[in-house]
Order: sequence, then C-alpha cells, then structure tokens
Amino acid sequence: MTTNATLQRAFSDPMFTAIGEIAEQMQTRAFTIGGCVRDALLKRNQSKDIDIVCEGSGIELAKAVADQLPNSGKVTVYKNYGTAMVRVGSYELEFVGARKESYQKNSRNPVVEIGNLEDDQKRRDFTVNALAFALNPKEFGTLIDPFDGLEDLDKKVLRTPLTAAQTFSDDPLRMLRAVRFATQLDFTIDPQTMKSIRIMSQRIKILSQERIIEEIHKILLTQIPSKGFLLLDELGLLQHIFPELCSLKGIEEVEGQRHKDNFYHTFEVVDNICQTTDNLWLRWAALLHDIGKAPTKKFNQKVGWTFHGHEFVGAKMVYKLFKRLKMPLNEKMKYVQKLVFMSSRPIVISEKIVTDAAVRRLVFDAGELIDDLLLLCEADITTKNPQRFETYHNNFKIVRQKIIDVEEKDRIRNFQPPVDGDEIMKTFGVGPCREIGLIKEYIKEAILDGEIPNEYLAAHAMMLKKAEELGLQPKQNTRE
Ligand code: ATP
Ligand code: MG
Repeated sequence: MTTNATLQRAFSDPMFTAIGEIAEQMQTRAFTIGGCVRDALLKRNQSKDIDIVCEGSGIELAKAVADQLPNSGKVTVYKNYGTAMVRVGSYELEFVGARKESYQKNSRNPVVEIGNLEDDQKRRDFTVNALAFALNPKEFGTLIDPFDGLEDLDKKVLRTPLTAAQTFSDDPLRMLRAVRFATQLDFTIDPQTMKSIRIMSQRIKILSQERIIEEIHKILLTQIPSKGFLLLDELGLLQHIFPELCSLKGIEEVEGQRHKDNFYHTFEVVDNICQTTDNLWLRWAALLHDIGKAPTKKFNQKVGWTFHGHEFVGAKMVYKLFKRLKMPLNEKMKYVQKLVFMSSRPIVISEKIVTDAAVRRLVFDAGELIDDLLLLCEADITTKNPQRFETYHNNFKIVRQKIIDVEEKDRIRNFQPPVDGDEIMKTFGVGPCREIGLIKEYIKEAILDGEIPNEYLAAHAMMLKKAEELGLQPKQNTRE
C-alpha cells in the first residue's frame, strides 16, 4: 500500500473529515500529528489517542468539535498547557494550538508564542513524531513533512528536527524519549543525536522524577527492555537514574575465581521475565532482584565470591530507590521488596532434592506471591551451560508439582490457623497473653514441618499438648 493510501485508511473515520470542516468554518487549519501518524505509517496497532494541532486556538476548536459532533463528550481544558481533550466515540482527541516555543537556559518553563504548523513541528522531539496529516477539505490527506520524517521512518532512525543540542537543551526529557522510542519501535538513534545526548546527559538532573519514571515504565513494558537499559547506559543516562544498577557492572577475578557480571545478567533476567508476564511490577522485581549484590560482595578463600544477605540488603534498597524516584511507597513497592527478598529461596530448593517441609515453608512465606516468585526465579536462570539450564528448569518443574501436591493436602498458600486465638482464650479462660502467641506458633510450625495435617482436630490436640507444657489448664464447664 502506498503511504498515501495507508494514511487515508487510518484516518478514514468520518470524524476526521468533520473536524477538517469545522476547522475550515473557523478559518483555521487542523492536522493530526505525532504518534498517531507515525504509528499508522509503521502499521503498529493504532491507538485511539489522537493529537490534533491547529493554527489558532486548540481549545476553541475542541469546543466547536464537541458542540457539533454526535458522540462527543465534555471538553476538558488544560489551561496551563493551552490544550483541551474531547472524547468522540472511541477516540480520545487532544487539541493544541500550533506554537513557537523556546526554553530559557535554567528554567523548565518555556516562553510560548502562537505559531504556524511548521513552528510547531520544529519543537517536536523527533522527525518521525513531527509528521502532520492535513484535515481541511481542500488539503485533506496531504502529509506535511518538512524534516524528512518519512525517510527516517523508512530508515528506522530517530533524529531531531532542529539541532540535537537545541532540542535536548529545550527539554532534556527528549533524551529519555529517544531511548524509549528506540526500544518501543526498534529504531536506532542517529549518531549525531547520540553524541549530543552523551554530552548533555547530566541535564536529566533538572527533570522531575515523575517524568523520568514514566519513560522507565514504558521501557520496562516493551518486549526487550534490555535494549533500552543498555542504551541508557551507553549514553550516560543510566547512572543518573539507577546508580545501584551501574554498581553491578564488571567481573572481578581473584585467585582465578570469577563471578558473573550481574549488570548484564540483570537485563537478561528482565528480558526473560518479559516473555512470561506483562505485570509491570514483576518486571520491576526482575530489574532490582540483584541490587543488593554490589554492597554485599566479598571474596572468601575457600568458597570464592559470596553475596551473603544480598536479598535482605536488596529489599531495603528497593524502598530507598522507590523513595528517591518518588514512586508511591504502597503495596506495589512492598510486592517488589518481597520478591527481591525471596528471590533466592526457590533456587535453593530447585538445586537439590526437596522435602515437602521446605516446599510448605516456601509457599507459606511467599503466600499469594508464590506464582510470581517462581516466574522470577525461572527467569533468573541465565546459565549458558545447556545441561545446567535444563537441569534447573526441570527442577523447577518438580518444585511446581510439589507445590500443587502440598497445596492439595495442606492449603498453605492462604494459611489460616485451624485453631485461632479466640478459641485458645476460651478453652483456657485467659485473656490476651504471650502463651497464646506461643501456642499458635507451635501449631503453625507443626503443620509446616508436616508433623500434623492442616486440620482442626490435629491442631486442637496440639494446642492441648503445648498448653499443658506452658502450665495452662483447660477451663472447667461450671454449670450450676
Ligand atoms: P505514545 O503515545 O505511543 O507514547 P506519542 O508519539 O503519541 O507516542 P506522546 O507523548 O503521546 O507520544 O506525545 C505526542 C506527540 O507530542 C509526540 O509524537 C511528539 O510530536 C510530541 N511530544 C510529546 N512530548 C514531547 C516532548 N517532550 N518534546 C517534544 N515533543 C513532544
Ligand atoms: Mg500519544
């Protein structure tokens, strides 16, 4: 299909011609621009987010569109940005007036003036994001491409419309966007643009953490995030965002003993997990699972390199890292923390013959996270030795089967004590006290060790036994 036909098809919904007619009535020109035009030409799955730029007031055009088109919702105006959003049918339209923009050296607030389409295209981040598709009746369907974006799309290259230095100094976020688009679209970054990013990398310090994290999330949600992270590293950006990952770099050798390079290993694990899950937070756990290894690394004459306690240290670092990056310290953070903390547990049981008790303990400690934890640990297998690779994977199959067996018997995953504190208090006629905790713990341990099944009668008998040891007497039923 020709470029023209592809675009006509992408914007064949009558809504687009209608918007062009409304713009014409208002004596302005309107265009779809940016991601929606780019993705149509790349034949990527087309999102329903459409950016529309007009030579005039975007807000006024949005209002007129909402007035005149059936199926439109209310207009949401973002005054600070001079933009407005309207839903029409299944589309979400974002309107903006074309502008000229320049940023002052040490300020993030641009000086904005009204401009024409080309001014607006100049201030876009990449040539492939600056392609505009005309909507007015006289020119409907014309592709406006003053910076050879079409050619760059063809070459799969990201290049800035103005000089890279100017584009990035106006808004350093564009450096991260370059990496993000390169990863999402599988493009390369033009060499001159790469050079500029390297020179200006430290300018990302002026960005808010929220904007940075948004790009990191998008990179993590691609199919092969390692491409993005290695590019961030190559461009000198990674050290400003994740110094803890950069500290994992390198292989040390002492007395002929080497450890693996945990930096590259980490990204392999991330890529692996992406094949099995879209869960962003599980991907985060893969990214951070080894961060405790840099501060815990030691060389021991007998056993070689060790990273004792790295899971515990790593889990603590997760909290600090989330805090620094201004991510919410909520249950997602705790989820990542817990996975990092437990990340070596299943490996230990997959390496040797497992007992039921070990499996029960793992399931008890992981709780609801057991399935995600297993996925993480399987992704962690990056050995290049095919025999070992197979053995480890086979062992995980055995672990999974054992978990199913143990769950059928003992239902440990959502462990609820078969005899609870209330019952203990009633049986012995006591109030809350230390003994109750001890009895409950004793019963739980007996179940996890497989001494008794996870059942009421067995647990009740255990309770009586432990209570006697502790000197508690069952209350007599005193009937008058
Ligand atoms: P996607 O929505 O798939 O992430 P997109 O290209 O639509 O990709 P948005 O962030 O939605 O990206 O931005 C829409 C358009 O606005 C971009 O295509 C680009 O033209 C422009 N744009 C967005 N952010 C910037 C920026 N920081 N600097 C310059 N232009 C930008
Ligand atoms: Mg978009």
